[in-house]
Amino acid sequence: MVGSGAGALAGALLAATAGLATIVIEKTDQFGGTTAYSGGGLWIPLSAPNQRASVPDSRADVDTYLDACVGQEHRELRDAYLDAGPGVIDELELNPWLEFEWRPFPDYFCEAPGAQTDGRSIYALNFDATGHEETIADLRQPLPPERGGWKEPFPTIIGGRALLARLLVALSETDAVLLKETELQSLIVEDGRVVGARCTGAAGESTIQAARGVLLAAGGFERNDQRRHRDQAPLGADWTLGAPGGMGSALEAAEQAGADTGLLEECWWAPGLMLPNGTASFRLFERGKPGSIMVNGAGVRFANETWPYDRLGRAMVDGHASGVSHIPCWFVADADHVERYGFATARPGREVDQEWIDSGVVVRADTVEELAGRIGVPADALVATVAEWNAGAADGKDPRFGRGELAFDRFFGDPSVEPNPCVGPLTRGPYWAWQVNPADLGTKGGVRCDSHGRALRPDGSVLPGLYAAGNTMASWTNHCYPGPGSPIGSGVVFAALAVRDMIG
Ligand SMILES: Cc1cc2nc3c(=O)[nH]c(=O)nc-3n(C[C@H](O)[C@H](O)[C@H](O)COP(=O)(O)OP(=O)(O)OC[C@H]3O[C@@H](n4cnc5c(N)ncnc54)[C@H](O)[C@@H]3O)c2cc1C
Repeated sequence: MVGSGAGALAGALLAATAGLATIVIEKTDQFGGTTAYSGGGLWIPLSAPNQRASVPDSRADVDTYLDACVGQEHRELRDAYLDAGPGVIDELELNPWLEFEWRPFPDYFCEAPGAQTDGRSIYALNFDATGHEETIADLRQPLPPERGGWKEPFPTIIGGRALLARLLVALSETDAVLLKETELQSLIVEDGRVVGARCTGAAGESTIQAARGVLLAAGGFERNDQRRHRDQAPLGADWTLGAPGGMGSALEAAEQAGADTGLLEECWWAPGLMLPNGTASFRLFERGKPGSIMVNGAGVRFANETWPYDRLGRAMVDGHASGVSHIPCWFVADADHVERYGFATARPGREVDQEWIDSGVVVRADTVEELAGRIGVPADALVATVAEWNAGAADGKDPRFGRGELAFDRFFGDPSVEPNPCVGPLTRGPYWAWQVNPADLGTKGGVRCDSHGRALRPDGSVLPGLYAAGNTMASWTNHCYPGPGSPIGSGVVFAALAVRDMIG
């Protein structure tokens, strides 16, 4: 297994449990990858935790939903994912350390037929790490809170780290070998079959023979600025939320071994609120609250601000490509919003740190006109945008984008605000703006695979011995992020499919 996110570790656990000699290699000095930064959701419709929670759902509804938002491209991958998902969770839950539960988080296209407004995502239970400190000592820490992470109340491990901690503890009871600071450099190909890996690490160069196969579950190339400029111009790696290690070296090894690739222009997008140090934050659930809008470089709203992060991030990327500047956009709020919900570093009732204002990522002005001048958008356009928003907001409506009409919108609204928990006017200064750039949770293009997770060559034939999962694989979700937990769900399910194929 190459990598140590949820896909690689779940694959390793299933392989080791089935009696396969299993080696996990991780290039950094910490296990977990971007999965460790994540909320740890897995979008696995109809799995046992959903059924235990009596989520009303059917395969027909799931298919109807995915027909509407993902489409038919690579349908065989989607079918494989849905067919296998519940069984994979059953198999993992056979291990005493692994237990999942459903938690509410609406699907990302609540307006689509078949959408589940309570959600279809499951999570590993929080984990009490008492007594397991050594086993999880090298587990990557969460992002810092200002970037959308959290302060963990040790010994309770939460989010994606809970899933990873559980997998590491379960793996510690198997014969699997976990090697950190060991990087896949290239694949060994003999007679057209991948039979092993050449690695570098603290101990120098080594080769690992892999009689059953090599699974690449090594994340994407979100941190590789050069490659992103090549495959995703004009965007580079500046605003990614992905963990160190996401340089795409496993993908390159697969390409050199003859694997086909796809979706390289794609990411799991997110609007990134900018920090003074130039990095982005995933925190943007404030945007569902009244008294705020987002505008592009023309001073115009361009989407429903409460849209799920991938939809809004994608609207920024596509809007920019259309010729109107969306890099940066601005999250604009009035004094009532700031006092009620907080803003940037300010929790309600506290001041924004001066450092943030000095850096220019947060801007304050007494009037909307003055704010426009400070953020470099046309003043007449911003004044007109706010006026139009306020006219609709007086009746709790957003005639332009329908904000607050979807269950997802309302999930992040303010339930105390009537009649629309997501809509309220911007009327009282000072006005504030916060710079937003297109960020990402990782790239989602990579090795083209079949429905067993087997890598394919450009002519569509199988490249024997090579498998991919998670963000190293060209995602079955194509250009869509259907629900919370699609990335990690894909990593775990396709890793399991790969292991099933290796077992034979
Ligand atoms: C704040 C945040 C919240 C998120 N929340 C969710 C969520 O709740 N649900 C969800 O589904 N997704 C979520 N995501 C996205 C998700 O975390 C990632 O898309 C997913 O974890 C990627 O998993 P992976 O297994 O492909 O890669 P990773 O988890 O990144 O693991 C890849 C590992 O491979 C290692 N590696 C890379 N190259 C090599 C090499 N050549 N040799 C050896 N090792 C290598 C890397 O160092 C890394 O440790 C979130 C992301 C962020 C940033």
